[in-house]
Amino acid sequence: MEDTLFAKIARKEVRADMVYEDDEVIAFLDIHPINPGHTLVVPKRAVRNIFDVDENTFEAVMRAVRRIAPAVRDAVGAEGMNIHSNHEAAAGQVVFHLHIHLIPRFKNDGYHLWSGKTYPHGDAETVAQKIRNALEARKYVKPTTPSV
Ligand code: 5GP
Repeated sequence: MEDTLFAKIARKEVRADMVYEDDEVIAFLDIHPINPGHTLVVPKRAVRNIFDVDENTFEAVMRAVRRIAPAVRDAVGAEGMNIHSNHEAAAGQVVFHLHIHLIPRFKNDGYHLWSGKTYPHGDAETVAQKIRNALEARKYVKPTTPSV
């Protein structure tokens, strides 16, 4: 895996405005915030994104997210928060070291969430079945299908 900017920040070779650190995770301010307080939560271990992270590392990241989010909210007086993450270039990932964006939000701050499409008739069932199959191939527990 390439040596990324965030790996260098984790090793303290590149400066960042740090807000949190534990054995497995660091968090620091995004240099180009959507709103003030926009924070990136990053594992120290060099992992590219959700497609290669191990469960323990991801759990450590999400544990830190739960700890840090209310502190960010309180520090900037946010009314809400988007917790967001990009994985691979097609999804907007620019730094290829897993990270979670904590984006403080305010009513009428000018940002909008994406709007959803509608499945053509029958496609949702097909897609859900393909995902269940892919999970089963990975030997994860098969979810129960709700009866209608
Ligand atoms: P991505 O698009 O990969 O999810 O987001 C990468 C984020 O890293 C962007 O929001 C960008 O502003 C932030 N970023 C890029 N370079 C630096 C930097 O040198 N320092 C900090 N703190 N954040 C950076």
